[in-house]
Amino acid sequence: MSRVNMTDNIKVKSRKLFTNKDLESEDDSAKRLRAREILERLQKRFPNAKIALKYNNSIQLLVAVILSAQCTDKKVNEVTNSLFRKYKTARDFASASLAVFEREIHSTGFFRAKARNIIAACKTIDSRFKGKLPKTMAEMLTLPGIARKSANVILGNAYGVVEGIAVDTHVIRISQRLGLTKFSDPVKIERDLIELIPQNKWFGATYKIIEHGRNICDAKKPKCSLCPLKDICPSAFNLSNWE
Ligand code: SF4
Repeated sequence: MSRVNMTDNIKVKSRKLFTNKDLESEDDSAKRLRAREILERLQKRFPNAKIALKYNNSIQLLVAVILSAQCTDKKVNEVTNSLFRKYKTARDFASASLAVFEREIHSTGFFRAKARNIIAACKTIDSRFKGKLPKTMAEMLTLPGIARKSANVILGNAYGVVEGIAVDTHVIRISQRLGLTKFSDPVKIERDLIELIPQNKWFGATYKIIEHGRNICDAKKPKCSLCPLKDICPSAFNLSNWE
C-alpha cells in the first residue's frame, strides 16, 4: 500500500478515537500500518531523539548503560562526568579497585552489582576481545550485566549494528498502552515490535518512544490531550489503563 493510502486509511480511523474494540478487530496488517503511523508522528514531534547518556568511547558507553539500570540518565551523566576522566579503556575499568569503584558509582544505586558487573565485563573485553567492545549480539550477551536491551543500545550507538529494538521501561509502557503488545516481558515485547516496525526504523524507534514517554505519555499522568497519537491510541483518556 502506498504511503498516501496508508495515511488516508489512518485518517479515516482518526475521525473518532481508536477504541479497545477497534484494537480487538485489528488484523496484523492494520496494526503494522498503525505502528508506522505512530513512528512517523513521533518522528515529527521528536526529530532529534537520541541516547541521553554521555560517553567518549564505546567502553564508556557500555559502562554508562550498565550504570543507567534503575537510575536516571541525568544522574548517570553527573557521575560519569568525573568517572570518565579517570577510567577510559577496558583495562582501566578492569583494573579498578572494587571498593573504590563502588564508592565512585554509589549514587547511581545498586552500586555493588553494577561495580562487579562493570569490572567483570571489562576484564572479559580486555582478555577475550583484545580490549575492544564486541560487535555482535551473541558476543555482547556473554558479558556480565548485559542483556538484550543493553546490548541493543550499545551495539546501535557504538557501531550502528542493529539486531533488535531496545525495550526499556518507557517502551514497555507505551507499547502496551498503544496496543502494540499484550506482553510485559521485554523479550516478547521486542519480538512483537520487530514484527510491526520496519528494520530500518528499529534503532530510532527506541529513542522516539523514550522521548514520548518522558514528555507526554508519563507513567502516572499521561498528557493525552496534548498527545499526537491520541486518535490512534486505545488507551487515550482511559483512566483505567493508567492505574
Ligand atoms: S499520552 Fe495518552 S493518548 Fe498518548 S500514547 Fe499515552 S495513553 Fe495514548
